[in-house]
Amino acid sequence: MTDAHTLTLFNSLTRQLEPFRPVHPGEARVYTCGPTVYNYPHIGNMRAYVFADVLGRTLSYKGYQLTHVINITDVGHLTDDADAGEDKLERAAAEKAQSIWDIARHYTEAYWADIKALNIRQPARWSIATDYVPQMIEFAKQIADQHCYELESGLYFDVSTVADYGRLARAVTDEGEGRIEAVEGKRNAADFAIWRKTPPGEKRQMEWDSPWGRGAPGWHLECSVMSGDLLGFPFDIHTGGIDHREIHHPNEIAQNQAFCCTNGLDVPANSGARMWMHNNFLVERSGKMSKSSGEFLRLQLLIDRGYHPLAYRMMCLQAHYRSELEFSWEGLAAALTRLKRLVMQIESWRDDVAFKGDIDAWRGDALSRFDAAIADDLNTSVALTVLEEVVARKGPSAVKRDLAETMDAVLGLNLFGLSRADLRLRPKAATIAETEIESALARRKQARADKDFATSDALRDELAGQGVEVMDGDPLGWEWKLV
Ligand code: AMP
Ligand code: ZN
Repeated sequence: MTDAHTLTLFNSLTRQLEPFRPVHPGEARVYTCGPTVYNYPHIGNMRAYVFADVLGRTLSYKGYQLTHVINITDVGHLTDDADAGEDKLERAAAEKAQSIWDIARHYTEAYWADIKALNIRQPARWSIATDYVPQMIEFAKQIADQHCYELESGLYFDVSTVADYGRLARAVTDEGEGRIEAVEGKRNAADFAIWRKTPPGEKRQMEWDSPWGRGAPGWHLECSVMSGDLLGFPFDIHTGGIDHREIHHPNEIAQNQAFCCTNGLDVPANSGARMWMHNNFLVERSGKMSKSSGEFLRLQLLIDRGYHPLAYRMMCLQAHYRSELEFSWEGLAAALTRLKRLVMQIESWRDDVAFKGDIDAWRGDALSRFDAAIADDLNTSVALTVLEEVVARKGPSAVKRDLAETMDAVLGLNLFGLSRADLRLRPKAATIAETEIESALARRKQARADKDFATSDALRDELAGQGVEVMDGDPLGWEWKLV
């Protein structure tokens, strides 16, 4: 723990870097919008949780007692973020002819498996939306008279009843509204559903009674209710992907204002959370990120192709969370190499290596530079280079271990829990046995020693045909990999 540099974070609400000043001294309360569990998460979704995890780890490292809540959306999120389309879970259940509860359980577990594989710490609480429906109804009752109106399709929030609506999105636009079907009778285009009534004659798998008829809560309502209930308004930081800055979070803010104070957003605490932080997107040019395309980029796909999941975490850490990050297999391979190098260097550390120079001064300087980087709005890419410098430096392992452990507690690469062998994952499609590879490589080595380059090249091509890439001169000494 160090307080050498003040933790400064970018608040999307003010569009400024601000020092972190906890609402409750010594504590940090963070709420993260979780997944909608109608399908597997793609690796872009997981970027949002790697970011929230680094934020949480940084707050812990800075000495704050962290309470982190991540929700699971198992009701209410429509196929369009505005009030149009169908409930994503209802639709998945109908398509797969399964119970919505089974669907939610299956994909929640798949998401938790990815969380674990990426070494994301468990939050204090996973809050499940359907556990909070009575609280959501209570919340809606409290704001209904002053801020809502009823239409045939449900109870709607009138955004003109709160000051500064849309401040977070920086634009009060009609964009995103009514893209699938406009809701007849809305007072303002940006008004959104708090409660969606089940249409007459229909039966939904998930529906509850309410003062506004049988139906289901609107998606934005759940996050206001669970964050307020579990963390108390105002809490410190609310996070999500950058898409949430446009609709979901402005709507949560409007509800929070209605619930606790209708004052304007010049006082940031009036928005329910003092700071709103957003990670930028992971993009992929060919559209493999879209869950609607057949084979989309799930973490499991990376693993099946022989990439350790922490290589993806490394890839995320190499970029700043507010920058767009482009996914490519080459980029992932490079991130894996970077991770391997760290793990292999640590494996080769020895205690009897002398340090050239003043070890205490070096230690202090490295820690200070790491602290400066991470305190500067979570600059993980710079922090990583400091960690790499520590790992590569010649010196006694005890001192380096102490430093690297402190740094890895923030970056979460699990460097001291991984071995070189763990990082060599076998691609699912590979059929060749490792002994066959080793024997072909031995023959190739002999051919090269005999200057028989024709045989050597032929063996290399043969191996390539079986998915083995020979890595001549690989500084990491891996010699081959399955691709
Ligand atoms: P969802 O399950 O669709 O509600 O999304 C879960 C989280 O992933 C939200 O915080 C989204 O903002 C975020 N997200 C969605 N797509 C991406 C992406 N391509 N890159 C980074 N974050 C994303
Ligand atoms: Zn949310």
